[in-house]
Amino acid sequence: MNLLEKSVRFTRAREAQAAGYYPFFIPIEASYGAEVMVRGEPKIMMGSNNYLGLTHHPKVLAAAAAALKRYGSGCTGSRFLSGTLDLHEELEERLARFLSKEAALVFSTGYQTNLGTVATLIGRGDYIFMDKLNHASLVDSGRLAYGTVRRYPHSDMKALKRQLAQTPPEAGKLIVTDGVFSMEGDIANLPDIVALAEAYGADVLVDDAHAIGVLGERGGGTAQHFGLEDKTTLIVATFSKSLAAIGGVVAGPEPVIHFLKHHARPLIFSASMPPASVATVLASLEVIEEEPERREALWRNTRRMQEGLRSLGYDIGDSETPVIPILVGDLNIMAIQWRALFDAGVFINPVIPPAVPQHSCRLRISMMATHTDEQIDFVLDLFAQGIKQRAAM
Ligand code: PMP
Repeated sequence: MNLLEKSVRFTRAREAQAAGYYPFFIPIEASYGAEVMVRGEPKIMMGSNNYLGLTHHPKVLAAAAAALKRYGSGCTGSRFLSGTLDLHEELEERLARFLSKEAALVFSTGYQTNLGTVATLIGRGDYIFMDKLNHASLVDSGRLAYGTVRRYPHSDMKALKRQLAQTPPEAGKLIVTDGVFSMEGDIANLPDIVALAEAYGADVLVDDAHAIGVLGERGGGTAQHFGLEDKTTLIVATFSKSLAAIGGVVAGPEPVIHFLKHHARPLIFSASMPPASVATVLASLEVIEEEPERREALWRNTRRMQEGLRSLGYDIGDSETPVIPILVGDLNIMAIQWRALFDAGVFINPVIPPAVPQHSCRLRISMMATHTDEQIDFVLDLFAQGIKQRAAM
């Protein structure tokens, strides 16, 4: 087949566009926190990872504006050469403390952080053990690494144990897991993972993209939630969710961070995080410390939505965090439900393969601290009134 023919044959998205059921790449014209404007109409934002609502916090905006003025709009160089600001180093020190680790290293995205960390540490002869529902960036990090990848069924600790037991004892081993699973909203069984790691001489990496600012006594994530910071070798987090910007961090033992700094290709061969984003994350960390009531509001809203949906008979799986999937299954039914919600003024995320397995299509809600009870009840009313009936038409 001609190289480019596959793009001509790819018609599914165009068909959905023509039918008016295309839910992707929707341009947002303005954002007021929990509400956005789309084609001149307001929509309640139910699909943003802006868990604490910090993208519009006055302190965060002021810090970003000040950094823009002081350093300019971009770093135009990699961390390795001309792209390290004093602000990057300040952020790394602060994040190391926040995550209870010796050191931290900041990348330009969370995706790059996972690629750079896993693919750099895992060499020939080493083994990676991955939960099958890990985020795509972790999956891709395994593809890039020279070692062997073993994938275990979601949260199946018996399977993980079996895989560890079958691995040469002297081999380097890294267990890699999402802290909060991004499409399911459940929490990794870190106590068992850590116990298995100790028993089989493995290290543990937790991707806390959806747990930073959300889980743990001080918002420090999954390891803090379980009191296992000292048993979790590496914590990766992204800034594209609770921390209201874009970028990522890996935190862990100082020699490991030093090694990554000098070997991680996604760090060395890509320009660094822009100044306004770095300042945004620094200010967001301050707000997380100063305003714990935001986290409380997030959890109150999460419980209201989860209890509401469950009492209406919707299947939200094992969700136990602000990530709430509404499991639908069939792609067409999900598209009809998405459209009905969108027309009624709700912006919600549809999830289809390859993000989830075939016949596992779902709508995905992400709760925010800044949702009002009225907004939550409005969405629940729509679900109560007949999203189901419409789907059955
Ligand atoms: N890990 C997880 C679990 C994620 O959900 C995401 C983003 N969806 C990433 C990593 C990538 O983060 P970023 O957006 O900063 O590239």
